[in-house]
Amino acid sequence: MLNFTNISIKPAIKNKNKLTTNKLENAKQKLIKKNYDEIYEHEAAHKAAAGSLGGSIHIVNNSAGIPVSGFVPITIPAIPEKPTQNGLKKTIDHAKTVIKAAMAPKDPSAADYQVKAKAERTLSKAKSVKKKISQNIDFMA
Ligand SMILES: [Zn+2]
Repeated sequence: MLNFTNISIKPAIKNKNKLTTNKLENAKQKLIKKNYDEIYEHEAAHKAAAGSLGGSIHIVNNSAGIPVSGFVPITIPAIPEKPTQNGLKKTIDHAKTVIKAAMAPKDPSAADYQVKAKAERTLSKAKSVKKKISQNIDFMA
């Protein structure tokens, strides 16, 4: 009896452990895929809207190898050092693209809103400098 019990219990426990490990591993793989897909979809929306201003999609994993965040590098617009009508128009177009790209995913993050706010400040500054320049040109003429 004792022998029989030992023989029958041991493999049962072993199998149970193996099953649990497999279940955990499956759950982890599912989570990895789910997170990856969600993050990738978000970043792909940024990238598509950013066009040539956007870099490649980066997915960031935690120490357990589970994707937790992602990003797409984007060039932030700046006011040209020597502002011209043309240069400022480029800055304005650039800023508008960045704003559109920041808000492209259906679930923009806090960082996305920060990028949007920064681009909006540059946009309004570029508009006011452009206006000043055009007024000066009118005055000179
Ligand atoms: Zn985002």
